[in-house]
Amino acid sequence: MLDVALKLLKEFNNHSYKAYIVGGFVRDHILGIESNDIDITTNATPKEIKELFEDSCLPHEDYGSVIVMMKGIRFEITTFRLEIGYENNRQPVEVQYIDDLYPDLLRRDFIINTLCMDEDGHIIDYLGGQEDIKNKIIRTVGDANQKFSEDCLRILRAVRFATILNFQLADDVIAAIRNQKYLIERLSYQRKKEELDKIFNCPNRDYGIRLLLDLGLDQELELQHLEKVIDCGVDSAIAVWSLLDVSSKYPFQKNELEIMEDINEAKCHNNLDPMCLYKYGLYVNSCAGRMKGIDLKSINESYANLAIKSRNDIQIDSDSIMTILNRKPGKYLKDIYDDIEREILYKRLDNNREKIQNYIIEKYK
Ligand code: ATP
Ligand code: MG
Repeated sequence: MLDVALKLLKEFNNHSYKAYIVGGFVRDHILGIESNDIDITTNATPKEIKELFEDSCLPHEDYGSVIVMMKGIRFEITTFRLEIGYENNRQPVEVQYIDDLYPDLLRRDFIINTLCMDEDGHIIDYLGGQEDIKNKIIRTVGDANQKFSEDCLRILRAVRFATILNFQLADDVIAAIRNQKYLIERLSYQRKKEELDKIFNCPNRDYGIRLLLDLGLDQELELQHLEKVIDCGVDSAIAVWSLLDVSSKYPFQKNELEIMEDINEAKCHNNLDPMCLYKYGLYVNSCAGRMKGIDLKSINESYANLAIKSRNDIQIDSDSIMTILNRKPGKYLKDIYDDIEREILYKRLDNNREKIQNYIIEKYK
Protein backbone atom coordinates (compact mmCIF):
# COMPACT_ATOMS: atom_id res chain seq x y z
CA MET A 1 0.00 0.00 0.00
CA LEU A 2 2.75 2.43 0.98
CA ASP A 3 4.67 1.57 -2.19
CA VAL A 4 1.66 2.48 -4.30
CA ALA A 5 1.31 5.76 -2.40
CA LEU A 6 4.99 6.60 -2.93
CA LYS A 7 4.59 5.87 -6.63
CA LEU A 8 1.68 8.25 -6.72
CA LEU A 9 3.82 10.94 -5.07
CA LYS A 10 6.54 10.33 -7.67
CA GLU A 11 3.95 10.79 -10.39
CA PHE A 12 3.24 14.25 -8.99
CA ASN A 13 6.99 15.00 -8.76
CA ASN A 14 7.55 13.91 -12.35
CA HIS A 15 5.12 16.62 -13.35
CA SER A 16 6.91 19.18 -11.15
CA TYR A 17 4.32 19.20 -8.38
CA LYS A 18 5.02 18.77 -4.68
CA ALA A 19 3.05 16.01 -2.97
CA TYR A 20 3.18 14.32 0.42
CA ILE A 21 1.27 11.72 2.38
CA VAL A 22 -0.18 13.61 5.33
CA GLY A 23 -2.01 13.04 8.58
CA GLY A 24 -3.40 9.80 9.87
CA PHE A 25 -1.49 7.42 7.66
CA VAL A 26 1.91 8.85 8.61
CA ARG A 27 0.94 9.03 12.28
CA ASP A 28 -0.21 5.42 12.25
CA HIS A 29 2.82 4.30 10.23
CA ILE A 30 5.14 5.66 12.91
CA LEU A 31 3.05 3.95 15.57
CA GLY A 32 3.14 0.67 13.65
CA ILE A 33 -0.63 0.72 13.18
CA GLU A 34 -1.96 -0.50 9.86
CA SER A 35 -4.14 2.06 8.11
CA ASN A 36 -5.93 1.82 4.82
CA ASP A 37 -6.92 5.41 4.40
CA ILE A 38 -4.23 7.53 2.75
CA ASP A 39 -4.52 11.30 2.57
CA ILE A 40 -2.25 13.16 0.20
CA THR A 41 -1.56 16.86 0.09
CA THR A 42 -0.14 18.67 -2.93
CA ASN A 43 0.31 22.05 -4.58
CA ALA A 44 -1.48 20.75 -7.67
CA THR A 45 -5.00 22.19 -7.94
CA PRO A 46 -8.00 19.83 -8.20
CA LYS A 47 -8.16 20.56 -11.93
CA GLU A 48 -4.48 19.69 -12.35
CA ILE A 49 -4.88 16.52 -10.28
CA LYS A 50 -7.74 15.41 -12.48
CA GLU A 51 -5.68 16.04 -15.58
CA LEU A 52 -2.87 13.96 -14.12
CA PHE A 53 -4.95 10.94 -13.13
CA GLU A 54 -7.62 9.43 -15.30
CA ASP A 55 -9.24 7.48 -12.53
CA SER A 56 -10.21 10.42 -10.35
CA CYS A 57 -13.34 12.13 -9.13
CA LEU A 58 -14.29 15.20 -7.15
CA PRO A 59 -16.59 14.14 -4.33
CA HIS A 60 -16.47 17.33 -2.26
CA GLU A 61 -16.39 20.09 -4.84
CA ASP A 62 -16.48 22.75 -2.14
CA TYR A 63 -13.43 21.48 -0.37
CA GLY A 64 -11.47 20.58 -3.46
CA SER A 65 -10.54 17.07 -2.41
CA VAL A 66 -10.02 14.71 -5.30
CA ILE A 67 -10.33 10.95 -4.96
CA VAL A 68 -7.80 9.04 -7.03
CA MET A 69 -7.88 5.27 -7.39
CA MET A 70 -4.58 3.54 -8.05
CA LYS A 71 -4.18 -0.25 -7.99
CA GLY A 72 -7.51 -0.52 -6.21
CA ILE A 73 -6.43 1.81 -3.41
CA ARG A 74 -8.36 4.99 -2.71
CA PHE A 75 -6.41 8.18 -2.15
CA GLU A 76 -7.96 11.42 -0.97
CA ILE A 77 -5.90 14.24 -2.41
CA THR A 78 -6.22 17.76 -1.10
CA THR A 79 -4.57 20.88 -2.45
CA PHE A 80 -2.42 22.94 -0.01
CA ARG A 81 -4.73 25.59 1.31
CA LEU A 82 -5.46 28.40 3.70
CA GLU A 83 -8.84 28.39 5.35
CA ILE A 84 -10.17 31.86 5.78
CA GLY A 85 -12.83 32.67 8.35
CA TYR A 86 -15.04 29.97 9.80
CA GLU A 87 -18.81 29.84 9.98
CA ASN A 88 -21.18 27.89 12.19
CA ASN A 89 -18.15 26.78 14.22
CA ARG A 90 -17.68 24.12 11.64
CA GLN A 91 -16.57 25.21 8.16
CA PRO A 92 -14.20 27.67 6.58
CA VAL A 93 -15.93 30.48 4.73
CA GLU A 94 -13.28 30.51 2.06
CA VAL A 95 -10.52 28.22 0.92
CA GLN A 96 -7.48 29.62 -0.83
CA TYR A 97 -5.11 27.28 -2.66
CA ILE A 98 -1.43 27.91 -1.96
CA ASP A 99 1.93 26.65 -3.12
CA ASP A 100 3.58 25.72 0.20
CA LEU A 101 3.11 22.85 2.57
CA TYR A 102 3.95 24.62 5.81
CA PRO A 103 0.98 27.04 5.98
CA ASP A 104 -1.29 24.15 5.03
CA LEU A 105 -0.10 22.26 8.11
CA LEU A 106 -1.04 25.18 10.35
CA ARG A 107 -4.74 24.87 9.47
CA ARG A 108 -4.81 21.25 10.63
CA ASP A 109 -6.23 20.10 13.94
CA PHE A 110 -3.60 18.29 16.01
CA ILE A 111 0.20 18.23 15.91
CA ILE A 112 0.20 14.44 15.49
CA ASN A 113 -1.89 14.96 12.34
CA THR A 114 0.63 17.28 10.67
CA LEU A 115 3.23 14.65 9.92
CA CYS A 116 4.06 14.11 6.27
CA MET A 117 6.00 11.62 4.21
CA ASP A 118 7.75 12.40 0.95
CA GLU A 119 8.23 10.22 -2.12
CA ASP A 120 11.35 8.58 -0.62
CA GLY A 121 9.48 7.61 2.52
CA HIS A 122 11.21 10.31 4.60
CA ILE A 123 9.19 11.84 7.40
CA ILE A 124 8.67 15.59 7.31
CA ASP A 125 7.94 16.91 10.74
CA TYR A 126 7.73 20.71 10.92
CA LEU A 127 5.69 20.98 14.08
CA GLY A 128 6.97 18.25 16.39
CA GLY A 129 4.55 15.45 15.59
CA GLN A 130 7.07 12.71 16.33
CA GLU A 131 7.81 14.20 19.74
CA ASP A 132 4.08 14.25 20.56
CA ILE A 133 3.73 10.65 19.45
CA LYS A 134 6.67 9.75 21.68
CA ASN A 135 5.04 11.59 24.58
CA LYS A 136 1.62 10.14 23.73
CA ILE A 137 -0.01 13.51 23.79
CA ILE A 138 -2.63 15.32 21.74
CA ARG A 139 -1.94 19.01 21.29
CA THR A 140 -3.64 21.38 18.88
CA VAL A 141 -1.78 23.23 16.15
CA GLY A 142 -1.76 26.67 17.77
CA ASP A 143 -4.30 27.96 20.25
CA ALA A 144 -6.66 25.24 21.44
CA ASN A 145 -9.59 27.57 22.10
CA GLN A 146 -9.34 28.99 18.63
CA LYS A 147 -9.06 25.55 17.00
CA PHE A 148 -12.20 24.28 18.71
CA SER A 149 -14.24 27.39 18.04
CA GLU A 150 -13.26 27.33 14.36
CA ASP A 151 -14.49 23.76 14.04
CA CYS A 152 -16.16 22.08 16.98
CA LEU A 153 -15.95 18.64 15.39
CA ARG A 154 -12.32 18.77 16.51
CA ILE A 155 -13.53 18.36 20.10
CA LEU A 156 -14.83 14.90 19.32
CA ARG A 157 -11.86 14.13 17.10
CA ALA A 158 -9.57 14.92 20.05
CA VAL A 159 -11.39 12.42 22.25
CA ARG A 160 -11.48 9.89 19.42
CA PHE A 161 -7.72 10.05 18.76
CA ALA A 162 -6.96 9.96 22.51
CA THR A 163 -9.13 6.85 22.80
CA ILE A 164 -7.85 4.99 19.77
CA LEU A 165 -4.20 5.80 20.37
CA ASN A 166 -4.46 5.75 24.18
CA PHE A 167 -2.92 9.23 24.34
CA GLN A 168 -3.41 12.01 26.88
CA LEU A 169 -5.07 15.29 25.99
CA ALA A 170 -2.77 18.24 26.71
CA ASP A 171 -3.87 20.47 29.61
CA ASP A 172 -4.76 23.39 27.35
CA VAL A 173 -6.79 21.04 25.14
CA ILE A 174 -8.75 19.84 28.17
CA ALA A 175 -9.36 23.42 29.34
CA ALA A 176 -10.43 24.54 25.86
CA ILE A 177 -12.83 21.60 25.48
CA ARG A 178 -14.40 22.46 28.83
CA ASN A 179 -14.77 26.05 27.64
CA GLN A 180 -16.22 25.31 24.26
CA LYS A 181 -18.12 22.11 24.79
CA TYR A 182 -21.44 23.89 24.36
CA LEU A 183 -20.60 24.15 20.63
CA ILE A 184 -21.10 20.40 20.22
CA GLU A 185 -24.80 21.01 20.04
CA ARG A 186 -24.29 22.60 16.61
CA LEU A 187 -22.99 19.38 15.10
CA SER A 188 -25.43 17.17 13.28
CA TYR A 189 -26.38 13.95 15.04
CA GLN A 190 -24.93 12.11 12.05
CA ARG A 191 -21.51 13.68 12.62
CA LYS A 192 -21.67 13.05 16.34
CA LYS A 193 -22.64 9.45 15.75
CA GLU A 194 -19.77 8.86 13.32
CA GLU A 195 -17.24 9.99 15.91
CA LEU A 196 -18.97 8.17 18.77
CA ASP A 197 -19.12 4.98 16.71
CA LYS A 198 -15.34 5.08 16.40
CA ILE A 199 -14.94 5.63 20.14
CA PHE A 200 -17.50 2.94 21.05
CA ASN A 201 -15.97 0.40 18.68
CA CYS A 202 -12.50 0.83 20.11
CA PRO A 203 -11.12 -1.78 22.53
CA ASN A 204 -9.92 1.18 24.64
CA ARG A 205 -13.50 2.46 24.78
CA ASP A 206 -13.73 2.82 28.55
CA TYR A 207 -10.92 5.36 28.53
CA GLY A 208 -12.78 7.38 25.89
CA ILE A 209 -16.01 7.20 27.84
CA ARG A 210 -14.27 8.38 30.98
CA LEU A 211 -12.86 11.29 28.99
CA LEU A 212 -16.33 12.19 27.67
CA LEU A 213 -17.67 12.07 31.23
CA ASP A 214 -14.78 14.02 32.77
CA LEU A 215 -15.10 16.71 30.13
CA GLY A 216 -18.87 16.91 30.55
CA LEU A 217 -19.40 16.00 26.92
CA ASP A 218 -21.98 13.36 27.81
CA GLN A 219 -24.46 16.13 28.60
CA GLU A 220 -23.71 18.03 25.39
CA LEU A 221 -24.11 14.81 23.42
CA GLU A 222 -27.37 14.05 25.24
CA LEU A 223 -26.07 10.70 26.40
CA GLN A 224 -27.75 10.21 29.75
CA HIS A 225 -26.18 7.63 32.06
CA LEU A 226 -23.16 7.17 29.84
CA GLU A 227 -21.36 5.91 32.93
CA LYS A 228 -23.34 2.69 32.85
CA VAL A 229 -21.51 1.75 29.67
CA ILE A 230 -18.17 1.57 31.48
CA ASP A 231 -17.12 -2.03 32.07
CA CYS A 232 -20.30 -3.27 30.37
CA GLY A 233 -18.24 -5.97 28.72
CA VAL A 234 -19.59 -5.61 25.19
CA ASP A 235 -17.35 -5.32 22.18
CA SER A 236 -19.24 -3.33 19.58
CA ALA A 237 -20.61 0.16 19.15
CA ILE A 238 -24.10 -1.08 18.43
CA ALA A 239 -24.21 -2.95 21.74
CA VAL A 240 -23.09 0.24 23.50
CA TRP A 241 -25.78 2.24 21.72
CA SER A 242 -28.38 -0.33 22.80
CA LEU A 243 -27.64 0.66 26.39
CA LEU A 244 -28.05 4.37 25.77
CA ASP A 245 -31.62 4.58 24.54
CA VAL A 246 -31.08 7.44 22.08
CA SER A 247 -32.58 5.96 18.94
CA SER A 248 -35.16 8.71 18.75
CA LYS A 249 -32.40 11.33 18.42
CA TYR A 250 -29.41 9.74 16.75
CA PRO A 251 -29.75 8.40 13.21
CA PHE A 252 -29.53 4.62 13.05
CA GLN A 253 -29.93 2.39 10.06
CA LYS A 254 -32.76 -0.09 9.98
CA ASN A 255 -30.50 -3.06 10.70
CA GLU A 256 -28.87 -1.19 13.60
CA LEU A 257 -32.29 -0.48 15.11
CA GLU A 258 -33.24 -4.14 14.77
CA ILE A 259 -30.05 -5.32 16.47
CA MET A 260 -30.51 -2.85 19.34
CA GLU A 261 -34.09 -3.93 19.83
CA ASP A 262 -33.10 -7.60 19.76
CA ILE A 263 -30.30 -7.05 22.27
CA ASN A 264 -32.70 -5.31 24.63
CA GLU A 265 -35.26 -8.10 24.26
CA ALA A 266 -32.69 -10.88 24.56
CA LYS A 267 -31.39 -9.25 27.73
CA CYS A 268 -34.70 -10.07 29.41
CA HIS A 269 -34.34 -13.78 28.65
CA ASN A 270 -31.98 -16.57 29.56
CA ASN A 271 -29.23 -16.31 26.97
CA LEU A 272 -28.39 -19.99 27.32
CA ASP A 273 -31.93 -21.04 26.54
CA PRO A 274 -32.25 -22.83 23.18
CA MET A 275 -35.28 -20.82 22.05
CA CYS A 276 -33.63 -17.51 22.91
CA LEU A 277 -30.40 -18.52 21.13
CA TYR A 278 -32.37 -19.71 18.12
CA LYS A 279 -34.59 -16.65 17.91
CA TYR A 280 -31.97 -13.93 18.40
CA GLY A 281 -28.83 -15.68 17.18
CA LEU A 282 -25.33 -15.92 18.59
CA TYR A 283 -24.25 -12.30 18.19
CA VAL A 284 -27.22 -10.71 19.92
CA ASN A 285 -27.13 -13.27 22.74
CA SER A 286 -23.40 -12.73 23.17
CA CYS A 287 -23.97 -8.99 23.54
CA ALA A 288 -26.85 -9.46 25.94
CA GLY A 289 -25.01 -12.20 27.82
CA ARG A 290 -21.86 -10.12 28.20
CA MET A 291 -23.90 -7.30 29.70
CA LYS A 292 -25.17 -9.73 32.30
CA GLY A 293 -21.75 -11.22 32.95
CA ILE A 294 -22.53 -14.61 31.43
CA ASP A 295 -19.46 -16.51 30.34
CA LEU A 296 -19.16 -16.24 26.55
CA LYS A 297 -17.83 -19.77 26.31
CA SER A 298 -21.06 -21.22 27.64
CA ILE A 299 -23.12 -19.09 25.23
CA ASN A 300 -20.97 -20.32 22.33
CA GLU A 301 -21.30 -23.92 23.48
CA SER A 302 -25.05 -23.70 23.95
CA TYR A 303 -25.39 -22.16 20.51
CA ALA A 304 -23.22 -24.84 18.92
CA ASN A 305 -25.44 -27.44 20.63
CA LEU A 306 -28.67 -26.19 19.08
CA ALA A 307 -30.48 -28.94 17.20
CA ILE A 308 -31.44 -26.44 14.49
CA LYS A 309 -30.23 -22.92 13.74
CA SER A 310 -33.02 -21.84 11.41
CA ARG A 311 -36.37 -23.03 10.14
CA ASN A 312 -34.68 -24.22 6.95
CA ASP A 313 -32.87 -26.84 9.02
CA ILE A 314 -36.13 -28.60 9.93
CA GLN A 315 -36.22 -31.87 8.03
CA ILE A 316 -39.74 -31.51 6.68
CA ASP A 317 -41.38 -29.08 4.28
CA SER A 318 -44.90 -27.70 4.15
CA ASP A 319 -45.84 -29.79 1.11
CA SER A 320 -45.10 -32.96 3.05
CA ILE A 321 -47.12 -31.75 6.03
CA MET A 322 -50.09 -31.01 3.76
CA THR A 323 -49.75 -34.45 2.13
CA ILE A 324 -49.59 -36.22 5.50
CA LEU A 325 -52.65 -34.40 6.74
CA ASN A 326 -54.36 -34.32 3.36
CA ARG A 327 -55.16 -30.65 3.84
CA LYS A 328 -54.87 -27.46 1.80
CA PRO A 329 -52.50 -24.64 2.86
CA GLY A 330 -53.62 -22.61 5.87
CA LYS A 331 -52.61 -20.95 9.10
CA TYR A 332 -52.43 -24.37 10.75
CA LEU A 333 -49.10 -24.94 8.93
CA LYS A 334 -47.43 -22.17 10.89
CA ASP A 335 -48.80 -23.53 14.17
CA ILE A 336 -47.42 -26.96 13.35
CA TYR A 337 -44.06 -25.51 12.39
CA ASP A 338 -43.93 -23.52 15.63
CA ASP A 339 -44.72 -26.68 17.54
CA ILE A 340 -42.16 -28.96 15.90
CA GLU A 341 -39.55 -26.22 16.00
CA ARG A 342 -40.00 -25.95 19.76
CA GLU A 343 -40.00 -29.72 20.26
CA ILE A 344 -36.81 -30.09 18.22
CA LEU A 345 -35.07 -27.18 19.96
CA TYR A 346 -35.81 -28.62 23.39
CA LYS A 347 -34.73 -32.03 22.11
CA ARG A 348 -38.04 -33.74 22.76
CA LEU A 349 -38.21 -34.59 19.07
CA ASP A 350 -35.36 -35.62 16.78
CA ASN A 351 -34.84 -33.54 13.68
CA ASN A 352 -35.40 -36.57 11.53
CA ARG A 353 -37.93 -36.70 8.73
CA GLU A 354 -39.55 -39.96 9.75
CA LYS A 355 -39.81 -39.00 13.43
CA ILE A 356 -41.30 -35.64 12.54
CA GLN A 357 -43.82 -37.32 10.24
CA ASN A 358 -44.84 -39.71 13.02
CA TYR A 359 -45.15 -36.85 15.47
CA ILE A 360 -47.42 -34.95 13.08
CA ILE A 361 -49.56 -38.02 12.37
CA GLU A 362 -50.00 -38.76 16.06
CA LYS A 363 -50.74 -35.23 17.15
CA TYR A 364 -52.54 -33.65 14.21
CA LYS A 365 -54.18 -36.34 12.10
P1 ATP B 1 -8.22 8.67 10.44
O1 ATP B 1 -8.20 8.59 8.94
O2 ATP B 1 -7.47 7.61 11.14
O3 ATP B 1 -9.59 8.90 10.96
P2 ATP B 1 -6.86 11.15 10.02
O4 ATP B 1 -5.99 11.95 10.94
O5 ATP B 1 -6.27 10.68 8.74
O6 ATP B 1 -7.42 9.98 10.89
P3 ATP B 1 -8.88 12.34 8.39
O7 ATP B 1 -10.27 12.72 8.77
O8 ATP B 1 -8.67 11.26 7.39
O9 ATP B 1 -8.14 12.02 9.75
O10 ATP B 1 -8.19 13.68 7.89
C1 ATP B 1 -6.90 13.72 7.30
C2 ATP B 1 -6.12 14.88 7.86
O11 ATP B 1 -6.80 16.11 7.58
C3 ATP B 1 -5.96 14.88 9.37
O12 ATP B 1 -4.86 14.10 9.76
C4 ATP B 1 -5.77 16.33 9.67
O13 ATP B 1 -4.46 16.74 9.37
C5 ATP B 1 -6.71 16.99 8.68
N1 ATP B 1 -8.07 17.19 9.23
C6 ATP B 1 -9.12 16.35 9.11
N2 ATP B 1 -10.21 16.84 9.71
C7 ATP B 1 -9.83 18.04 10.21
C8 ATP B 1 -10.51 19.05 10.95
N3 ATP B 1 -11.80 18.92 11.26
N4 ATP B 1 -9.80 20.14 11.29
C9 ATP B 1 -8.51 20.27 10.95
N5 ATP B 1 -7.82 19.37 10.28
C10 ATP B 1 -8.46 18.26 9.91
MG1 MG C 1 -7.27 9.73 7.20
